[in-house]
Amino acid sequence: MKALVAVKRVVDFNVKVRVKADGSDVDIGNVKMSMNPFDEIAVEEAVRLKEAGKVSEIVVVSLGVKQCEETLRTALAMGADRAVHVETDAKLEPLAVAKCLKAVADKEQPQLLILGKQAIDDDANQTAQMLAALLNAPQGTFASKVEVGDGEVSVTREIDGGLETVALKLPAVISTDLRLNEPRYVKLPNIMAAKKKPLEKIALADLGVDAAPRLNQVKVAEPKARSAGIKVESVAELVAKLKNEAKVI
Ligand code: AMP
Repeated sequence: MKALVAVKRVVDFNVKVRVKADGSDVDIGNVKMSMNPFDEIAVEEAVRLKEAGKVSEIVVVSLGVKQCEETLRTALAMGADRAVHVETDAKLEPLAVAKCLKAVADKEQPQLLILGKQAIDDDANQTAQMLAALLNAPQGTFASKVEVGDGEVSVTREIDGGLETVALKLPAVISTDLRLNEPRYVKLPNIMAAKKKPLEKIALADLGVDAAPRLNQVKVAEPKARSAGIKVESVAELVAKLKNEAKVI
């Protein structure tokens, strides 16, 4: 069984991003970029399924600028077998990404498609759901546990006050949540070996997808600075302040 895993190159989660002076976007010039953390979890899950004998081949795919190759090489070092890079300098919205991933899936015919639940740059949380709709495939989102059975996969997600498990017929789309697994540390020999693994390049234009933007980003602004907190002497004082000053109770 083949698994297709989508990995996005995003600003590293440790970087404190700054807004550009003209408020048009965040400034990502010269900042550290890494694989989206939820996508690392997606790759790890695919590798574990392969180690358990449930998956036979893992194909990782990334859409974006030339440097996405580095992200793909990291995924290959984690244990993916093959990479596909859809190269473009265009800023792709989730719908465009979903259409491109569908085009790749039509070619690769995977049984499992694993994405992150959200990219930490746009925080959209849309691509997996849109991809499932475009493929007319079942979806299990925010997975905290994945179990592959015969022709189906069961996906558990954490919900308010408990767990919800859905059984999906394959092929199916899964999006990963934080507690699904802890991605492995990539060792140097694996990084070296990953350099020899196949990485296919596809030009966005060759996918025959309408990737034109539908959204207009009007403005990007820093959140308001928070005023400093104070210490109160007693619960009574706290309650009085919440009532009379903050007026929240
Ligand atoms: P989003 O809907 O933008 O929050 O992204 C959700 C997931 O879609 C990510 O965690 C990735 O698995 C996938 N994805 C989004 N954009 C890309 C991209 N440019 N290349 C590869 N995968 C992507």
